Amino acid sequence: MLDAYNTSKEIGEAAPEIAIFAIGAIEQHSVHLPLGTDWLGIADLAQRVAAELDAFLATPLPFSMSQCHGPMAGTVWLKPKTLAAVLRDVAHSLFAQGFRKVLVLNGHGGNFVLEAEIRRINLSNPDLILLMPPIFARHPDDPVIWDKGPDVHAEEAETSHQLFINPHNVKSGRVDYLPPVGREFLDYAYMGFISEHGAWGHPSYGTAEKGEKFVAFRVKLIAEWARQTFARVEDLRQARGGEA
Ligand SMILES: [Zn+2]
Repeated sequence: MLDAYNTSKEIGEAAPEIAIFAIGAIEQHSVHLPLGTDWLGIADLAQRVAAELDAFLATPLPFSMSQCHGPMAGTVWLKPKTLAAVLRDVAHSLFAQGFRKVLVLNGHGGNFVLEAEIRRINLSNPDLILLMPPIFARHPDDPVIWDKGPDVHAEEAETSHQLFINPHNVKSGRVDYLPPVGREFLDYAYMGFISEHGAWGHPSYGTAEKGEKFVAFRVKLIAEWARQTFARVEDLRQARGGEA
């Protein structure tokens, strides 16, 4: 794996095929997790995926679309337009240096602008493949995390991940809470209005052991998904290239 701790020369010589751009968030994470949970989590995951794929890890972005956590202290957000512009600039600068495959790893559920921008970039540049795996590892085959359904925020999976990589920053006194409304309510009201302590799920079920297994599961899943999907998209574009 190569990242910003390497020199430009090292990266040029190694010429990794894939670049990874991870996107975190700085936002309230209930009473027990740090503000940087999404950023710390996706940076950890991205590092492991980069090692698995021999990729270049462009430094993870800490901020993204956290406005729905707005009134709770410490939260910092980017507007959708800003995040789309950052993604575009990062993708284009990587492309300018020869990367033809860029894997975006999204660590925050509210970044709904990414998919639209990724589609736009892919359709406007036939030589660049920009992929983003489905965000959550609440995959039906996930053997580790109990809650496969409505866990959304500061929940079992995130708590387990932080207990594994960052235990000294996890506070005691976790609050389990499942709001009586769907996730779409984050489009209608601030998180703090929906859940008093800012949690949505079952953080009390989290353990470091689960975190370790969950991360290993996700890394395998994402790396495999990326290999297959890059190959498939390449095939599709080659097969149809002449018809464009
Ligand atoms: Zn989070």
